[in-house]
Amino acid sequence: MKELKLKRVVIAGGGTAGWISAALLAKSFGKSIDLTLIESDAIPTVGVGEATIPPIINLHKVLELSEKEFMSRVNGTFKLGISFENWRDVGENYVHSFGFAGKSNWAAGFQHFWLAGQKRGIDSTEYGNYCAEHLACRKEKFAVMPKNGVNYAYHLDAGLYAKFLREFSEKYGAVRKEGKITGVNLHPDTGYIQSLSLESGEVVEGDLFVDCSGFRGLLIGDALKTEYEDWSHWLPCNSAIAVQTETVRPPLPYTRSIAREFGWQWRIPLQSRVGNGLVFCSEYGSDDEAKELLVKNLEGKLLNEPRVIKFTTGTRKQHWTKNCVAIGLSSGFLEPLESTSIHLIQKSITRFIQLFPYDGIKQSEVDEFNRQTREEVQNIRDFIILHYHVTDREDTPFWRYCKYMDVPESLTHRIKLFRETGKVFKKEMDLFAEESWIQVMLGQGVTPESYHPVVDSMTDDALRELLMELKQSTEQKVDRLPAHHEFIDYYCKSNVM
Ligand SMILES: Cc1cc2nc3c(=O)[nH]c(=O)nc-3n(C[C@H](O)[C@H](O)[C@H](O)COP(=O)(O)OP(=O)(O)OC[C@H]3O[C@@H](n4cnc5c(N)ncnc54)[C@H](O)[C@@H]3O)c2cc1C
Repeated sequence: MKELKLKRVVIAGGGTAGWISAALLAKSFGKSIDLTLIESDAIPTVGVGEATIPPIINLHKVLELSEKEFMSRVNGTFKLGISFENWRDVGENYVHSFGFAGKSNWAAGFQHFWLAGQKRGIDSTEYGNYCAEHLACRKEKFAVMPKNGVNYAYHLDAGLYAKFLREFSEKYGAVRKEGKITGVNLHPDTGYIQSLSLESGEVVEGDLFVDCSGFRGLLIGDALKTEYEDWSHWLPCNSAIAVQTETVRPPLPYTRSIAREFGWQWRIPLQSRVGNGLVFCSEYGSDDEAKELLVKNLEGKLLNEPRVIKFTTGTRKQHWTKNCVAIGLSSGFLEPLESTSIHLIQKSITRFIQLFPYDGIKQSEVDEFNRQTREEVQNIRDFIILHYHVTDREDTPFWRYCKYMDVPESLTHRIKLFRETGKVFKKEMDLFAEESWIQVMLGQGVTPESYHPVVDSMTDDALRELLMELKQSTEQKVDRLPAHHEFIDYYCKSNVM
């Protein structure tokens, strides 16, 4: 293997970001790098972050983790999507599932066929009924299948996940150092980070530094002064209250996101407890009001004291500065509505490994990393704003603000295109595919005015037959699945550790 010039890699922080980064770096490079992770038991991790999206399965494949062992270790359940309740209006619900509805034609996506069915009075079924993942959410069914299965992700216990990945990383050569970082030492000429000083007096030197220190951004922000771009005018929630409760019913195979007067409530079911929280905007409700609102909408006994977390939505202007790359909350936070943060950790560390500067840092690599990361984050930002902005809700000052706020031009264009034509296109750096945009736009109440003319080459009878066949095959596929909780019991018990 090629001798690396930059081989001392230091990760600052051991939350989900730190340990995913360590696991992937250790698995990719093994002994060709010296990998050290510094974390302080005295500084807690953010401790939330328990809902994921399907690409996490690729991460685990790369790491060659056993899914059964992972599920048992992290108290995991399966996730087929998110149920958005009260978002379009109070009492109106829809599911953003991980699946694809119907069958596309090369010229036109399935939404055009579905729309034609609606407009020609052939079918009045909800769009989601053509999607197995959607239907499986509604029927609380799930199974991992070797072929022709459903797309899924996980709900997991963030603390247990970090522990699981720590064991993995240490097995592959990562060295964990316990200690509080008290100084970041820069080279006097280049401004590159040379070392980190710990409270114990120890100095840890490195060539490359991965900032996983959480919201504070100890290296990328405090030391390297990389600016933070504030997006709170578009994503105004800036606080959360989190609490765990006892389980009172079998776990659902989806996350619940319930819009409330000045924010939204999450409910994430694990095997033996439920993670809950309220994300809210402090301009429209105090911490005490938020706590009261959350607690009155919980099921099951509280297992801990509700905890307040403060944040500013936005992103770093550069995610890689000099010899430091920011991964996780140190790089920015969009808010957890679509469970994208763990995914961004996975994407950023993967991108860093793909662009790994083994031969010395080249500005072209840094620029490429920053371009890709920024575009990806901007697209996710637009997708999240969509949920708040396209709403019929005007019942509280918070919802009136969201409905009438200015939004990025890139989002306005996507909504207009869909409203006028039913068309959606995925951009180069889009995380969310066409199907996600369609589900959320329809769910939030954007009804396209027209559909693609290729569908008009079909007679009413042919279209009726197509839609009926697709709907029946979707139902049959879902009806064959076991109940989600039964599958978890079977799957985790059949784990051979
Ligand atoms: C309310 C809320 C809900 C969320 N829900 C989701 C979700 O459902 N899905 C999802 O994907 N993401 C979610 N996220 C985001 C997710 O929690 C984070 O992306 C993830 O936990 C990674 O955090 P982190 O590792 O960057 O930071 P942290 O968890 O804050 O870890 C920081 C680490 O740095 C260490 N550290 C800090 N300062 C020092 C120092 N001076 N010396 C030594 N060590 C130090 C700490 O000890 C800790 O180990 C949510 C976030 C919030 C706020």
